[in-house]
Amino acid sequence: MEKITVIVPCYNEEETIPLFITEIEKVYDSMHEKYDIDMEYLFVNDGSKDRTAEVLEEYAAKNPRVSYIRFSRNFGKEAAMYAGLDNSDADYTVIIDADLQDPPELIEEMYRILKTEPEYDCVASRRYTRTGEPPIRSWFAKRFYSLMAKISKTEIVDGARDFRMMSRQMVDAIMSLSECNRFSKGIFSWVGFETKWLAFENRERAGGQTKWSFWGLLIYAIDGVVAFSTAPLAVSSIIGIIFCILSFIGVCFIFIRALIFGDKVEGWPSLACIMCFIAGIQLFCNGISGIYLSKTYTEAKRRPQYIAKKIHRGTLKDKKDEE
Ligand code: UDP
Ligand code: MG
Repeated sequence: MEKITVIVPCYNEEETIPLFITEIEKVYDSMHEKYDIDMEYLFVNDGSKDRTAEVLEEYAAKNPRVSYIRFSRNFGKEAAMYAGLDNSDADYTVIIDADLQDPPELIEEMYRILKTEPEYDCVASRRYTRTGEPPIRSWFAKRFYSLMAKISKTEIVDGARDFRMMSRQMVDAIMSLSECNRFSKGIFSWVGFETKWLAFENRERAGGQTKWSFWGLLIYAIDGVVAFSTAPLAVSSIIGIIFCILSFIGVCFIFIRALIFGDKVEGWPSLACIMCFIAGIQLFCNGISGIYLSKTYTEAKRRPQYIAKKIHRGTLKDKKDEE
């Protein structure tokens, strides 16, 4: 019998968890009929401030497929996915959002592909529309993906979701990357393996609210760039070289002009502007180095990715035995 673990990061999802469980149970029933599989739903309660913990406890008490990890505080979705993968011992591992924006019924299709097309180690999903999303957010997201395509060797697919099913081997490869600053979209791609993409239309949340603010996403995008590209460092060096060359030309020009026309003291306002401009560029480039340095600092501390307050594992038995 093969085991599928479905990792569900949850932060304030009291409204959506019951809806999610109803849907995933349908998927389980349908798959259980056709294949010799067992399923575990591993909810990672990422320090929710609402009744998520109680809701999970209630479900875990009556459903042996429900497992959960409760964090000591909010560590973020990246940490929640890491904790799920860290605790998954299944043959196939799925990551899915709790809000039903990722269609659970695709899990069956993902499993079928991995079983019938052995060249694939992963079936991932991408949405081909962004309907229902604020236009400004879509615009920045598009810019981010096209920028990443230019400055990073790691391919990050536009519209790619974290929703995917992975083989044991791929999960082990992901866990062998021990970095603290985790940007999963990049990590999934960096480890390689053959990935099949399933496209679906964007869906709205089943309930509750998105946890992403505009600034949160911007910082996440910067994290992604820093984690998978050193191009900004190279750009700051190139800007430095360009300014050296320009100033050398300027010095030559002023020197020759002084020899021919004499040296009149003039033009200090423009000089002040130029100095301010260059100081700005210097601070900007310093900032870029600073971001990389701060990432190195957090890596050097080697703090754990998450702290679990409680781990409950379901007992996983055949549904027929439950009755
Ligand atoms: N999430 C989480 N920790 C956080 C923020 C979000 O575990 O700090 C979970 C959330 O419960 C959901 C998933 O990550 O299952 C995606 O979050 P959300 O729907 O808010 O993001 P969006 O779909 O708007 O990108
Ligand atoms: Mg969502």
